[in-house]
Amino acid sequence: MEKVDIVVTGELLVTDPFSPPVKDGAVAVKDGKIIALGPKNGIETAFYAAKRIDRPNGLIAPGLINAHTHAAMTVFRGLADDLPLKTWLEEHIFPKEARLTPEIVAIGTELACAEMIRCGTTGFVDMYLFEDTVASVVDRIGLRAWIGEGVFDFPSPAFSSGIEALKETGRLISKWQGHPRITITVDPHTPYTCSPDLLAMARDTAERHGAMTVIHLAETDWEAHEIQTRFGTSPVCHLDRLGLLNERLLAVHCVSLDKDDIKLLARKRARVAHCPESNLKLASGVAPVAEMIQEGVIIVLGTDGAASNNDLDLMSEMDTAAKLQKGIMKDPTFVPASQALAMATTWTAKALHRDDLGVLRKGAQADLVVVDLNQVHLRPCYNPVSHIVYVARSGDVQDVIASGMVLMEDRRLTTIDEEDLLSRLKRIVQAI
Ligand SMILES: [Zn+2]
Repeated sequence: MEKVDIVVTGELLVTDPFSPPVKDGAVAVKDGKIIALGPKNGIETAFYAAKRIDRPNGLIAPGLINAHTHAAMTVFRGLADDLPLKTWLEEHIFPKEARLTPEIVAIGTELACAEMIRCGTTGFVDMYLFEDTVASVVDRIGLRAWIGEGVFDFPSPAFSSGIEALKETGRLISKWQGHPRITITVDPHTPYTCSPDLLAMARDTAERHGAMTVIHLAETDWEAHEIQTRFGTSPVCHLDRLGLLNERLLAVHCVSLDKDDIKLLARKRARVAHCPESNLKLASGVAPVAEMIQEGVIIVLGTDGAASNNDLDLMSEMDTAAKLQKGIMKDPTFVPASQALAMATTWTAKALHRDDLGVLRKGAQADLVVVDLNQVHLRPCYNPVSHIVYVARSGDVQDVIASGMVLMEDRRLTTIDEEDLLSRLKRIVQAI
């Protein structure tokens, strides 16, 4: 018998959104990776484990990946609601952000990580400020993250100019190169807060380092109108003219698009991060996700920051994403549960050029969650993928493992002291 680090067993095993579940399944983990999985009997005869997590009522599934957030914005949760994006951002968020410090960002990020682990999230894409601090927090907590320092034409709380923020990005890429869980991205904020020159510099930085670029794009009709007025074209075409539209671009939101924009995004193989609850709450509209999927655009799912959502719960985001498209298309066959789950797992991995994530298979990273099915709202369970998308709540997640590390066991976080975190949060909230 081969010794492994962890064996997880459960009632059902979902390896990916499109494959049938395995009954009485098990996963064997060694050195951060899955070395075997399948029916429990086979795994138990071949391996013995240093640690076992046995969940006779558990549904084992890939860990979710949140494709867009601003983790530290948890400190602004509920600060200003029910306002248009521009007013919300310029009159409420930007003035508060001016007082941000690395210490506040560290606590906000830790709070976000705790919340995301509790929602079954094992990785997230973060665009914010003081990102070296964010990377250090993520490194310590054990999640996986794609991290980018926000770049603007104007000074940010962290840097005196966009050029300085891009220099920091280059420095972060060198510093975190080779880290098993942390990847640095290049993050110009939007086409209306970054000049064409700054966008071109961001493009060059990304190309030089082979990094991904993350940008908010076509979030509102206001933005589409503004870019049309300034540059005589749509936000998507504007980025294309500047050479940013390619398979290493993650364009966030993409709500205000026309048919040509959708075709262009598909042709250039740009990735789109859909944040339905943030778009709904800010009344930005609904991204044409069903049409983008039909055109072959790779769509992934994000929560956006907690200040505009107001939570980081990717489980409810999958539910919203699926139902919203059915509603606006007046056709229930659009965005079935399997696609909604793919938007938070396999498609996200593809968007981020990582075929070893978002799926449970031999050789993949051991990023997985166990959902406790032994609850009245989860019984009976005919179709576990349907249950993950339409029924399960974040509180149903019992265990979370990322790259072979147990981050939550039986609903207890192992790398975050929640009581201590909440008391530190209380102190900094007074400063905000
Ligand atoms: Zn955002």
